[in-house]
Amino acid sequence: MDAEQLGRRSAKHRLKGKAKQQFGGKCAYCGARSQSLTLDHIVARSQGGLDVRSNLVAVCQRCNLSKGSRPLWDWWQASACWDEQRALQLAATVLQCQIKARSKQETYD
Ligand SMILES: [Zn+2]
Repeated sequence: MDAEQLGRRSAKHRLKGKAKQQFGGKCAYCGARSQSLTLDHIVARSQGGLDVRSNLVAVCQRCNLSKGSRPLWDWWQASACWDEQRALQLAATVLQCQIKARSKQETYD
């Protein structure tokens, strides 16, 4: 494995760790504490979403499967786990990440 591959791998690892910390080890959508959080693309890759920090959140597998590639807010507001407080928190996080990414041009923050 060369240095570049190694760098990419650890960047991904850091990314996952940060995303998990953000909501205290709980699913960003339903708030359930889960040992097996997965990274979800807020905007699905099939919809043009990128592998950047601002587009990734740690969520439980149930939410990830349920959401699929639907637009986040469409899916979430129609789902039983809709929570306005968490939605506001997530929206703020997404915005913050976008602003940071723009000012630093740094993909993996
Ligand atoms: Zn969930």
